Amino acid sequence: MAIETLYDKDGSLNPLSGKTVAVLGYGSQGHAHAQNLRDSGVTVIVANRKDSANGKLAIEHGFDPLPVGDAVQQADLIVIALPDEVQPEVYAKDIAPNLKAGKTMVFTHGFNIHFKTIDPPSEVNVIMVAPKGPGHTVRWEYERGGGVPCLMAIHQDAAGDARDLALAYAIGVGGGKGGTLVTTFKDECETDLFGEQVVLCGGLSESIKKGFEVLTEAGYPPELAYFEVCHELELIINLIKRGGLDYMRYSISNTAEFGDYYTGPKICNDDTKKRMEAALKHIQDGSFAKAFRDDYANGFKWFKQQRAENAGHAVESVGKELRAMMPWLDPVEM
Ligand code: NDP
Ligand code: MG
Repeated sequence: MAIETLYDKDGSLNPLSGKTVAVLGYGSQGHAHAQNLRDSGVTVIVANRKDSANGKLAIEHGFDPLPVGDAVQQADLIVIALPDEVQPEVYAKDIAPNLKAGKTMVFTHGFNIHFKTIDPPSEVNVIMVAPKGPGHTVRWEYERGGGVPCLMAIHQDAAGDARDLALAYAIGVGGGKGGTLVTTFKDECETDLFGEQVVLCGGLSESIKKGFEVLTEAGYPPELAYFEVCHELELIINLIKRGGLDYMRYSISNTAEFGDYYTGPKICNDDTKKRMEAALKHIQDGSFAKAFRDDYANGFKWFKQQRAENAGHAVESVGKELRAMMPWLDPVEM
């Protein structure tokens, strides 16, 4: 691989011995980091509200959630596992006043450091260990004896130990098994935002919706439309995940593969690529981050409206009915 990739053999947990790690937030990432590190033998404390669902889960898992300020005071490493939009205010109120030389801030996404909405003092280390998977996979893979690949980056090395600490941390959460790729806050942040907006979440959701609309508006039953543009995605993704586009195309019929080459480039074409480039610019120049922050300051008014409108789309109602007929999918109701 061209990018520097580190494994268990390249480091150890020693840099964390005698240190206390405070995980702020016990949500998707927080619960996985806290438990994996603890199971790796690291001293871990957790900060969270006690009476929320996540707080109760932390207690159930044997932690005693503290207020953020107390946890930061007691800790050597402070892991920011809070939603990106709330990090700046929690930082200003409860983290910054309790920081001092020798402490290390650990981020799991580069957003606030890269876009400078958090600007830590120069005497603290600022590192990132970002598992490339949802928190539940990070935990589940670790329990299975493996580990999700991580991205690791150093923003500030105040004491000369930032890289050793970052690698030890990555090993502690399981990233030494899957491999830890060394990168920068900028590259992690911008590629992450691009991927989720353009392909994984935004691009995919809109493809599903538009495909569903075209079929149903042409008079086809919504049930069939759902099967064809949504349900079967999982089968395709599993093939791609295991062997790339090549293996997916090997497994599907010749008719499907022919149609892939014949029609795919008509749907996603050079014009689409130009719009993807524009989306990347919008991320790079900070416009996306500003839009996100401005809407948060406005009570996430636009965000909540989108969420409600999307929940009302016909693909969602028919999907719910069909999934109920397939209990092996372990359907989840929102
Ligand atoms: P979640 O929304 O799952 O969890 C957030 C946690 O923060 C909860 O425990 C919540 O507590 C707590 N919290 C929320 N608001 C406040 C507040 N005002 N003060 C104190 N605590 C608060 O977050 P994620 O795990 O999804 O995201 C955390 C970080 O991880 C982000 O930087 C994200 O980009 C990054 N990340 C997330 C991934 C994912 O798979 N979700 C993947 C890789 C990185 P409570 O329950 O009490 O409200
Ligand atoms: Mg992401």
